Amino acid sequence: VIKLQLDQSGGSRDGIAQLDESEGKIKDLLKHIALTIKTPSLYDRAVTDGLTHLFNKPHFTSRLSDHFSLAQRHHTPLSLIMLDIDNFKKINDTHGHPTGDAVLMQVSHIVRSSVRQSDSTYRYGGEELMVLTPESDAASAFVLAERIRKRVEKKRFVSAEKGEKFPVTVSVGVADYQPAMKTSAALVEAVDQAMYNSKRTGKNRTTQAASATVSKQKVMQFGG
Ligand code: GH3
Ligand code: MG
Ligand code: MG
Repeated sequence: VIKLQLDQSGGSRDGIAQLDESEGKIKDLLKHIALTIKTPSLYDRAVTDGLTHLFNKPHFTSRLSDHFSLAQRHHTPLSLIMLDIDNFKKINDTHGHPTGDAVLMQVSHIVRSSVRQSDSTYRYGGEELMVLTPESDAASAFVLAERIRKRVEKKRFVSAEKGEKFPVTVSVGVADYQPAMKTSAALVEAVDQAMYNSKRTGKNRTTQAASATVSKQKVMQFGG
């Protein structure tokens, strides 16, 4: 609420003209104020996933690209953690889609509450989540990934239909920026492969991307 009061003595013609003139200016000013009030919420909505309240995939692509450029230019560490819920289709089939949604929300909450202020968390796909850790090397990102994985493993989830308690696990991949990576897509590819390695080797585990592979290929190319 904005209250405006014009001091005028005796309602003179000048005073009324001044009021008319002020009204136009005030309306312009209010448009700007309204826009600044609205803009942050529009922005929040544009970058947030509605179900999990994590950032969405377009925002991930944009933030990763920014951090990747910084890592290239200033050689600052940059790590990526990818999590995929194990057997999520079966959770939906057994306990129903609303329970699946609740699992996704609760796993997302565990992820978000486990990271530092400088880290950011994203819903990358259906039941695939990403953590961007711009100030962590691969070793500390691995520690964080394991902390999240164990928190999920420990928690008992409850089915909306029957109130049954059941466990949920996640498969996790960790990769860090390597100078041989030319684009941010290479980092995503590395973390994706690491996560799939966790799936292949039995799920509910964390795999670190083999950083040496990229450099070795480069050395071999130079050598050949
Ligand atoms: P894996 O252990 O190999 O990851 O198997 P999975 O069943 O988790 O993976 P799959 O890719 O076969 O299935 C993913 C399922 O996730 C299928 C899809 O219906 C479900 N899903 C995707 N988004 C949502 C969502 O927002 N809510 C719910 N409830 N289910 C979702
Ligand atoms: Mg899955
Ligand atoms: Mg998946």
